Amino acid sequence: MRKMLSLIVGVLILSAATSQRNVIHCGQMVDVRNLQLLKEMTIITEGNKIVDVLKGYAVAGAGDKVIDLKSKTVMPGLIDMHVHMESETNPGKYMETFTFNPADYAYQSVVFAERTLMTGFTAVRDLGGSGVNISLRNAINKGLIKGPRVYTAGKSIATTGGHADPTNGYRRDLMGDPGPEAGVVNGPDEAAKAVRQRYKEGSDVIKITASGGVLSVAKSGENPQFTEAEIKAIVATAKDYGFKVAAHCHGTEAMKRAVNAGVNSIEHGTYMTEEVMELMKKMGTYYVPTITAGRSVADSAKKPGYYHELVTPKALAIGPKIQGTFANAYKAGVKIAFGTDAGVYAHGKNWLEFVYMNEGGMSALETIRSATLYAADLLGDDRIGVIEKDKLADIVAIDGDPVKDIRSMGKVKFVMKNGVVYKQE
Ligand SMILES: [Zn+2]
Repeated sequence: MRKMLSLIVGVLILSAATSQRNVIHCGQMVDVRNLQLLKEMTIITEGNKIVDVLKGYAVAGAGDKVIDLKSKTVMPGLIDMHVHMESETNPGKYMETFTFNPADYAYQSVVFAERTLMTGFTAVRDLGGSGVNISLRNAINKGLIKGPRVYTAGKSIATTGGHADPTNGYRRDLMGDPGPEAGVVNGPDEAAKAVRQRYKEGSDVIKITASGGVLSVAKSGENPQFTEAEIKAIVATAKDYGFKVAAHCHGTEAMKRAVNAGVNSIEHGTYMTEEVMELMKKMGTYYVPTITAGRSVADSAKKPGYYHELVTPKALAIGPKIQGTFANAYKAGVKIAFGTDAGVYAHGKNWLEFVYMNEGGMSALETIRSATLYAADLLGDDRIGVIEKDKLADIVAIDGDPVKDIRSMGKVKFVMKNGVVYKQE
C-alpha cells in the first residue's frame, strides 16, 4: 500500500514537472511591436511556450514557480543574424586551416555557443563555416550541449578565388580546384548545384559572398565576384528548397546585382550608395550591418603581424566605414536586422553592436527591435522575437534601463530558452 502511494505521488510530481508553469514578474518589459517599456508585467510560461502576458504582478497558483525579475528590464531573447560559431579571431588563425581537424572546430564551437547563449542571444544565424556548424545545431537541439537556436548556412558559397573559396592563399599544388560541393561555383548551373548540396548537408539558409571580403587572402575587399545570372540561379534554386539568401557585400556593384537578383539580406554593406538604399527599400531587402566586426578588424590591423599583408590594408580601409553606412541607411529608412559577425571578433561581445547602432542614431528600443522582431522576420520564423501568448519562451532580462544607458545590454542576468532557465543571477 505504502509502495503504491509513493508510486502515485511520484507520478503526480512528474506530471507537475512537465506542466510546470513559470510566473515571471517583470519590473519593466520591452514591447518590441510598439517600441515602449511596459511597467510591472507578468509573463506566464508553460512547457516551451508563453501562455499569457498580463498587466501587473499576477498571483501564482499552487505549484507555479515564481521568477522575480522586478528589478530588471525583460525582453524577448536576442537574435544575432550574423555569427560564425566555429572559430574566433587570433593572430594564428590562418594556420588553423592546416592544423585543425573538424573535432578541433567542434570543441571550441561548444564553448562559443554557450558563451553566446549566456550573454542573452537565444538564437543566431551562422553565416558560414566548414559544416561543423550543422552538427553544432543538431547537438544543441538534442540538448547535448548549451547554446542558442542555430540557423546555419553550413558552408558559404563563393566563386573561384573569391571570398570564402577555402583554398585562397595556398601554394599552387595545394590549391586544387574546389567545386560546388566545397561551395565554389562558376556559372548558373554550378550555382544551383551548390544550393542543392547545402540542402543535402542540412543547411537552413544560403550564404553567398557577392563581393570580395576583408579577411580572405586576396587583393580586393569589394570587387563583384558573382555575375547577376549566377546570383539569380542561387536565389531561384534557394526558393525551391525554402531557403532565404544572405549576401556578403562590401562593394556597390556587387550590392546592386545581389539586390536586383532578389537576395533577402545584404551583410556589411560598406559602400552602400543612396541608389542601393532606394533599391533595397523597393525590393524589401534587409541590411545586416556588423559594425562590431568592422571596428574590431580595424583595431586588430593596427597590431603588427596580426593579419596577412593582403588583409591589413583592407581591414584599415573597410572596417571603420561600416558605422557611417549604418547611420545613412537608418536615416534613409532601410530595414535593419541586428548582426555582428561574431567570430571575426571575440564571441560574447555581441552586445557592443547595440552601443554602436545607438551611436549611429538608432534609438535603444529600435536596436532591440532589430535584434528580436525584425531578426525573426528575416529568419522567417514567427515563433520567436516577441513576448506574446503562444510564442516560444525565449526571454532575457538585464540589469538597468537600456533607454537610459545602452551599455546595460551587456548586463544580461536572466536567460530562458525554449522554456528552460539557463541563467538567473
Ligand atoms: Zn561573416
